[in-house]
Amino acid sequence: MVDIKSMTLEELSGWFRKLGEPAFRARQVFQWLYRGVTSFEEMTNLPKALRQRLAETALLTPPAVARKQVSQQDGTIKYLWQLADGNCVESVLMCYQHGNTVCISCQVGCRMGCAFCASTLAGKVRDLTPAEMIDQVLFTQTDSGVPVSNIVLMGIGEPLDNFDTVLRFLSLVNCPDGLNIGMRHISLSTCGLTEKIDKLAQYGLQLTLSVSLHAPDDETRSKIMPVNQGVGVEKLMETCRRYFEKTGRRISYEYAMIDGVNDSDWQADLLARRLRGAPAHVNLIPLNEVEESPLKPSRRVAAFQNRLEAQGVTVTVRRKLGGDIDASCGQLRRKAMKHSAGSPAETR
Ligand code: SAH
Repeated sequence: MVDIKSMTLEELSGWFRKLGEPAFRARQVFQWLYRGVTSFEEMTNLPKALRQRLAETALLTPPAVARKQVSQQDGTIKYLWQLADGNCVESVLMCYQHGNTVCISCQVGCRMGCAFCASTLAGKVRDLTPAEMIDQVLFTQTDSGVPVSNIVLMGIGEPLDNFDTVLRFLSLVNCPDGLNIGMRHISLSTCGLTEKIDKLAQYGLQLTLSVSLHAPDDETRSKIMPVNQGVGVEKLMETCRRYFEKTGRRISYEYAMIDGVNDSDWQADLLARRLRGAPAHVNLIPLNEVEESPLKPSRRVAAFQNRLEAQGVTVTVRRKLGGDIDASCGQLRRKAMKHSAGSPAETR
């Protein structure tokens, strides 16, 4: 069976040519796919025989809503999707003044092992396909009725650990016959895989790269982010500088404030020093508590922010959306996993 939704319009056209179908049919099918149809039967402007043929040769595997939570505070919607093989991933829809943003997952679980993150607790199960990433955007849109204008790759998983799929996903959402969402409306967040950041830089994409820094010193960063071990903050910052030189895009650094771990004055000072030399933006995130972790949110967010700003760093504190619905990544899937422990709903 052909994974039709992971195909670019060009590939689809090529495949249709091979099937002996006229090229304009490929565009019609592509457009239907991005309208969020769940069967070929719905593609009403195709001849019946072609619909039949597609149903026999191509795969459409729309995810099912396993759970949906709507925040009473701000309308943020969180979806737990059940994929065709029973695995689950999360997406979150947030409505900001500058647009409606969907935060999507790129892997089932994660193997990066960050100490504060719920997504990584049970490791990585598998990579998502491009189609499974696209479907999160499409079905969030169709289920909520809210048109999505921005995408952030900040859900479950490490995007640069599923590199080819993520690149394909980006070109698919970019396509004018598909979602038509421009690169400047997309953010990709990484825990800092340096070789992959260099590889991404080669493409010169105009997306926003967010680097999850979380600590400016190696001792702390290696403790809370295993990915830092053997690499180090210095090398990461050099990679980020190269990325800026190559793409011209200012990097955004994420910094989850953890009580007594990364929130002291000397760390603010070291962070400010590390960021010199290339335009940067720091996003301070109040830590979301994860049940299984002893780490607590910092009480020094404002002081840390002031200290950075006094040294010329551009800082924002992330507004907390959906606090009442476990809207930070991995938590809903985690709960569902515990709930269904032993059942086949979550398969490896
Ligand atoms: N793997 C990617 C993207 C997924 S996580 C990355 O590491 O960037 C998206 C962001 O949420 C990252 O900055 C991550 O470090 C942060 N994050 C994870 N768990 C968190 C928590 N409990 N509280 C606050 N931020 C968290």
